[in-house]
Amino acid sequence: MRMAPLLGGRGHRRVTRAHNFCAGPAALPKSVLEHAQAELLNWSGRGASVMEVSHRSPAFLEVASQAEATLRRLLGITDDYAVLFLQGGASLQFAAVPLNLSAVGQSVDQAVTGQWSKKALLEGQRFGPVNIAATSEASNFTTVPPQEAWQLDADAAYLHYCPNETIGGLEFGFVPQVEVPLVADMSSTILSRPIDVQQYGVIYAGAQKNIGPAGLCLVIVHHELLGHARAETPAMLNWQTAANNDSMYNTPPTFALYLTGLVFQWLEKLGGLEEMAAINRRKASKLYRVIDESNFYGNPVDPISRSLMNVPFTLADDRFDSIFLREAEQAGLLNLKGHRSVGGMRASLYNAVEEASVDALCDFMQDFEQRQG
Ligand code: PMP
Repeated sequence: MRMAPLLGGRGHRRVTRAHNFCAGPAALPKSVLEHAQAELLNWSGRGASVMEVSHRSPAFLEVASQAEATLRRLLGITDDYAVLFLQGGASLQFAAVPLNLSAVGQSVDQAVTGQWSKKALLEGQRFGPVNIAATSEASNFTTVPPQEAWQLDADAAYLHYCPNETIGGLEFGFVPQVEVPLVADMSSTILSRPIDVQQYGVIYAGAQKNIGPAGLCLVIVHHELLGHARAETPAMLNWQTAANNDSMYNTPPTFALYLTGLVFQWLEKLGGLEEMAAINRRKASKLYRVIDESNFYGNPVDPISRSLMNVPFTLADDRFDSIFLREAEQAGLLNLKGHRSVGGMRASLYNAVEEASVDALCDFMQDFEQRQG
């Protein structure tokens, strides 16, 4: 077992942390977990945990506003945008987007480049006509269609796309240029690198990859796009409700929000998104190099559209899969099984996955290839 020992738990029991490549809920920074652990029973001297105080208490409101302020600094979010912390995951936004942005009967544009944008398409179709502006289904979602080939609808309320497809490991190398509001499901790429928020009308992301624990969904929405929801939109799905109530129309998942604030602080301390991006590029290129230099491993994605965050790979023969997974687990390399819809392996290299974990994975893969290849 090549797991890094650390101190923690009651009476400083030694615990081991695995190299965790889970696609989500994903690894969280160790120092964040240690911080939360240290103050779990007695948060800020209150004799209670952060989970046991009112979400409307001044101390908790400060946690929420600090989380938002840190995120605004990290991503350079101006006052033109509202930052909302919602529930229901990214999946609920597949419905919230059409309800908030399109009138009854109005058409919308959707790019379909993988399983998640396809799910968004299917959900969107419940609410009105959806024009498939681009699709790479014919290539089994291994390419991003160049924008010159897209068929945009001039009357669409917005264009919705997924810049990083978590399952296929496919990432856009460009930001679509459109006349209508651009809506991006950034669940598996947000905070992995700097972005220009001004190019988007709406950005949303489930928290459980680069943001924090599951239970939160971040929505960044331009103020001009608020206030146009369809009349029948439930209050909990109407972004305006959340914006008017500092994301506290009802009880938010307080522990998730608290931990998310700690993750944002960790990122800022690390040097922000430029630094994070450099580390992420290094991690991904190490793993792709091992795949590309071998005759044993393969990755089907067009090299210009490879994801920095999710690296699917296959073995020369799928009869090696179960032994690969068993030996990897014995070596402390966890959650490498590919998504059930595509098979093979997938290593997710989110922000909290340390470079040393990627090194351990690369070493293991090369060793496995030598023994089995
Ligand atoms: N979009 C993308 C790109 C995702 O990766 C996921 C989850 N893996 C979702 C949407 C759905 O997110 P949630 O489980 O938070 O609803």
